[in-house]
Amino acid sequence: MTDAPGTTALPAEGVPALRVLDEIRALRAADRPTHGGRLFAYVYDPGVAGLDELAQAAYAESAHVNGLDPTAFPSLLAMENALVGAAARLLGGGPGTNAPEVVGNVTSGGTESLILAVKAARDARPDVAEPRIVVPVSGHAAFAKAAHYLRVTLDPVDVDPVTLRPGVADVAAAIRPETVLVAASAPSYAHGVVDPVAEIAAVAGAAGVRCHVDACFGGWALPWLRRLGAPVPAFDFAVDGVTSISVDLHKYAYAPKGVSVLLHRNPALRAPQYFAYADWPGYTMINPVIASTRSGGPIAAAYATLRHLGEDGYLRLAEQTRAAVTGLADAVRAVDGLRLMAEPQSTVVCFTTDGDPDLDLFVLVDELTARGWHTQPQLRYAGLPASVHLTVTASVAPRVAEFGPALIEAVAAARAAGPVALPPELLALAGSLSPAALTPELIAGLAAGLGLGAGPAPDRMAAVNTLLDAAPVALRERLLAEFVGLLQRPTF
Ligand SMILES: *Cc1c(COP(=O)(O)O)cnc(C)c1O
Repeated sequence: MTDAPGTTALPAEGVPALRVLDEIRALRAADRPTHGGRLFAYVYDPGVAGLDELAQAAYAESAHVNGLDPTAFPSLLAMENALVGAAARLLGGGPGTNAPEVVGNVTSGGTESLILAVKAARDARPDVAEPRIVVPVSGHAAFAKAAHYLRVTLDPVDVDPVTLRPGVADVAAAIRPETVLVAASAPSYAHGVVDPVAEIAAVAGAAGVRCHVDACFGGWALPWLRRLGAPVPAFDFAVDGVTSISVDLHKYAYAPKGVSVLLHRNPALRAPQYFAYADWPGYTMINPVIASTRSGGPIAAAYATLRHLGEDGYLRLAEQTRAAVTGLADAVRAVDGLRLMAEPQSTVVCFTTDGDPDLDLFVLVDELTARGWHTQPQLRYAGLPASVHLTVTASVAPRVAEFGPALIEAVAAARAAGPVALPPELLALAGSLSPAALTPELIAGLAAGLGLGAGPAPDRMAAVNTLLDAAPVALRERLLAEFVGLLQRPTF
């Protein structure tokens, strides 16, 4: 055996099981920490002892079951229907509610849920040759991906620079005869603010247009926060005019990755989501979601997670999360030179600098990383400053007391280090270059100059972020696609 782990997946001679697992653990050591409450994006950690083991066992039990055919594997159908029922009930649907006929499906994630919401809306209107969707710019990028994949035109609606919410009159004005869907977020991922869902759904309804509430992030958090007394505005099926809602179970339901739920107010609204095909000699294909073969693993793991935690468990976790949000926001407020982008309304803390040129936000992010706090930088956009995003989960609560001092230290270190100084020619290039002018040589040169060669990303990303921040949107997209493409090369 001469192959190093992570180079080839298919050695000439099979590797013993325990050694393979050791190899994976060795590779995992380079990853950011998925547990422990110091990674504020990508992962959702409840910090509940034994929950991982339960989810893993449930996953293993159903990993080879195929969701392709619900009649062949009724176990999966039962668990999927139970998950959809739980999500529906949490979000104002089910018997005795404003949405008694609610239906839904489990998808692989929020992006798939949004693509399918757009697809259902598009295909419900075969009379519209060039369909359009209205989405606030604070809406998740997955709406743009849906529009791109489905050849639907995206009509963005600006958000107020202070409230970070779209104005209802602007949403109404963006609706055209070709509009098939209007979107709202509960809350937005970037800033964690809840859109005025009731007002948006009302203008959509008045125009006879579907209204999707993207509660991928908050759908499994806001209802518990409301039960704890937080002033959560109406955002679910209690609101007339809301036709569909997405909620990611792999976020605040704390299920392992690969599970979101897309709900429709009634079966007729869902009908155009299905793809059915009998015009070939094989089995008739009837798919409610994008994938055809689907592993039962994620569904079983989510089912086990929900059953084990129960309502009391989620309430407890929401209480811890709320305490963590309050503590983190206080820590930000206490630092001179930082300000919250918005008062935390859900489970996001988002902050920026107050404009002091000596305090570079991207350097601050690196200084926090160097101290073991992994935050998510967000580039400036349409009049909004660059910001730092913190997704807060229950596991953060025991860490909060350490965050304040670390933040103070990191801010001092960032001030001492001073802002990133890229060569002015490079910044000018980033500001003026058109994506079409990017040659492979130029990209390779830029990547090398920024330390983005093969191998793991550099510890300090401030230079990369500064360059991207200076670049217009189209160039950011192209540069990042190229940089990531450089990483995604096979090992032989
Ligand atoms: C995470 C998220 C999505 C996309 O979900 P994925 O599971 O990453 O595909 C969509 N909308 C919002 C508001 C989100 O937070």
